[in-house]
Amino acid sequence: MISRQRNETATLHPETALVTAGRDTLAQHGFVNPPVVRGSTVLYPTADDLRAHRGEFQYGRHGTPTTKALQEALIALEGPNCAGVGLTPSGVSAISTTLLAVLKTGDHLLVCDNAYRPTRLFCDGLLKRYGIATDYFDPLIGADIAAHIKPNTRAVMVEAPGSQSLEMPDVPAIATVAKAHGLLVIDDNTWATPLYHRSLDQGVDISIQAATKYIGGHSDIMFGTIAANKEAWPLIADGIRQLGVCCGPDDVFLALRGLRTMAVRLAHHQRAAIDMAQWLQTRPEVLRVIHPALPDDPGHAIWRRDFTGASGLFSIVLQPAPQVAIDALLDTVTLFGMGYSWGGFESLVIPFDCSTYRSATAWNPGGPTLRLHIGLENIDDLKADFARGLEAFAAALG
Ligand SMILES: *Cc1c(COP(=O)(O)O)cnc(C)c1O
Repeated sequence: MISRQRNETATLHPETALVTAGRDTLAQHGFVNPPVVRGSTVLYPTADDLRAHRGEFQYGRHGTPTTKALQEALIALEGPNCAGVGLTPSGVSAISTTLLAVLKTGDHLLVCDNAYRPTRLFCDGLLKRYGIATDYFDPLIGADIAAHIKPNTRAVMVEAPGSQSLEMPDVPAIATVAKAHGLLVIDDNTWATPLYHRSLDQGVDISIQAATKYIGGHSDIMFGTIAANKEAWPLIADGIRQLGVCCGPDDVFLALRGLRTMAVRLAHHQRAAIDMAQWLQTRPEVLRVIHPALPDDPGHAIWRRDFTGASGLFSIVLQPAPQVAIDALLDTVTLFGMGYSWGGFESLVIPFDCSTYRSATAWNPGGPTLRLHIGLENIDDLKADFARGLEAFAAALG
């Protein structure tokens, strides 16, 4: 497990650190990138070395030169409060590993109501079976989270902004109260990435990424990361070790390759998504655009205060319409693929309805809802494509 050992990247801007961190040219025979190290056994030269576990790498599951390069780069990205980063084979496994690593039977967990749905499934499934209770809270709760804390509450989990409906929690306010009660604060920081939201600088102890999304960036890997501060890192490192969590070397390499270009990709996703969101606000078929970077969004003030950028993912509420009109839109667009996940180079659209599984809040958007991911295509092509979809939607309304 690689923890922060070098801090020469601490004074660089994050974009520069993304390019430079984790590179060890000499060890790589001069090559820019690390090798894809496939390995289980690591041989020790002497019996004494073996007994003492002497050597930088001890066993494939615990780390290789490839995982070390990625972890060092991620530590630089997560910032000065990051003590270590664990790698997991998916975003969901980053969440489940974290929760198993920090909770025990009899504990109580608080999770924001707009958490990624599989997070809820894990809490209401395996965690419940292991005697860990979860309560969900309104993501806009702020300091009133205090009212939900019980004597056995151990951790609070937030997502900023949350999945699909993108309500923006006040992470520092929640974290301040949680800390005062001795709780761990966990943030699923996938939407903004640590480049645009330094969770660990805002009172969060554990910052999770579904690296499947923007870190990978090319829709070609499943991957997760768990970054923790010095209080939480020993728990995470132990949990990863005991659960036997490790990742395939090709995916580690691809995650690192994606990370190197993440700053330029995200800058484009951000620009294009805001442009698209503003254009959608002018369309009569669209009731509301949900995007924290828009000035009239309810989460805008918090976004401006706590974030340095926005990603390419946002949602829209359409005028009330029958299913056939929504299907006409979805079946007309060709540049917006229909499928789960996001964060790759390509644009996506899916319908969603979170009213079916929220429990602490009601979701009544007033019309059908779509989630859009704006990719790296030309923005005018995307608008023209979506305009055709909206026209088909309007035509189906009659
Ligand atoms: C996609 C996603 C995950 C899960 O990531 P996988 O790699 O698909 O397991 C977790 N949290 C959020 C917010 C996500 O969007």
